[in-house]
Amino acid sequence: MYSIFEQEIREILEPKQIKKDEKLEKHTTFRIGGPADFFVIPKSADEVKQIIKLCMENHTDYFILGNGSNLLVGDKGYRGVILHIGSGMDSLEFAANEEGRTIVTAGAGISLAKLAKEIGKRGLTGFEFAGGIPGTLGGAITMNAGAYGGEIKDCIVSATVVNQNGDILTLTKEQLQLGYRESIIQKEPYIVVEAKFEFEKGQVEEIQGKMAELNKQRREKQPLEFPSAGSTFKRPEGHFAGKLIMDAGLAGYQVGDIKVSEKHCGFVVNVGKGTAADVRKLMDHVRDIVYEKYQVKLDPEVRMIGEF
Ligand SMILES: Cc1cc2nc3c(=O)[nH]c(=O)nc-3n(C[C@H](O)[C@H](O)[C@H](O)COP(=O)(O)OP(=O)(O)OC[C@H]3O[C@@H](n4cnc5c(N)ncnc54)[C@H](O)[C@@H]3O)c2cc1C
Repeated sequence: MYSIFEQEIREILEPKQIKKDEKLEKHTTFRIGGPADFFVIPKSADEVKQIIKLCMENHTDYFILGNGSNLLVGDKGYRGVILHIGSGMDSLEFAANEEGRTIVTAGAGISLAKLAKEIGKRGLTGFEFAGGIPGTLGGAITMNAGAYGGEIKDCIVSATVVNQNGDILTLTKEQLQLGYRESIIQKEPYIVVEAKFEFEKGQVEEIQGKMAELNKQRREKQPLEFPSAGSTFKRPEGHFAGKLIMDAGLAGYQVGDIKVSEKHCGFVVNVGKGTAADVRKLMDHVRDIVYEKYQVKLDPEVRMIGEF
């Protein structure tokens, strides 16, 4: 079915950048997900452009994967191409603008942990919130990731994206339409390849101290010892999803090896060989019970793809 596509993709990428029937459980923090027909690892915006063009011409579905830390992939996997924007596209540059402020330009595949560390090391403040979020920059922009009072929206200047025609566009912060866990990237078929940020000068020790403190808080409050995709549901207005779930008596509620964490009820964790079907079953039950008890609708924060 894919023979022409495969031939053509092999003309764009090196063999080590292409995997067939790659198990996606290896690429999600939930450790769940069946095989992708193709798993490709571009190293540049130009390669991204060429792969998208090929997928469009061949009417082949594709999905952009960062670190898979906000993702539930179906047990039967994904029919089409997974484009993994990760360490192959993790460039990083620092430069001063005319006002003497530092502009950081980073590839979409860089991990937030590395980016936060490098920014902090240079005595720049405003990105400490992101150091413990286990995603890539591209995923964080898509989700407008945030924590401890900070979010991507606070510090981003612009993002460079590839559209489905293969054009490279620069979207300003306003054009990115960043809101609570949402952005234009979720609504339009844009692929983030790079982004610019601006930061104030601060004190290295203070910045590093703050990051260490936030990571300590994460370790104390979140079930980081188990695979998960972070907060399963978005925060409903005026409430906290975790508290509603706890008050509904669902702490420790389990379907197969998938469980509502007792440490933090906002997290659904994989305590063994959990399946995507079990995660969905558990999420449906939690949503129904919370609605029955409190008439509050829980919307998933976790994105779902593939065949379940
Ligand atoms: C233990 C744990 C703690 C977490 N804590 C937080 C937290 O404090 N705050 C928070 O906001 N989130 C948190 N998360 C969720 C998650 O880490 C973030 O949403 C993160 O930004 C997702 O990045 P990713 O690279 O893993 O994206 P993925 O999960 O790979 O993808 C998420 C979405 O982004 C899209 N995407 C990814 N890269 C690109 C790209 N380059 N171009 C276009 N689209 C792209 C994907 O198609 C998908 O729709 C946590 C997750 C875990 C497991």
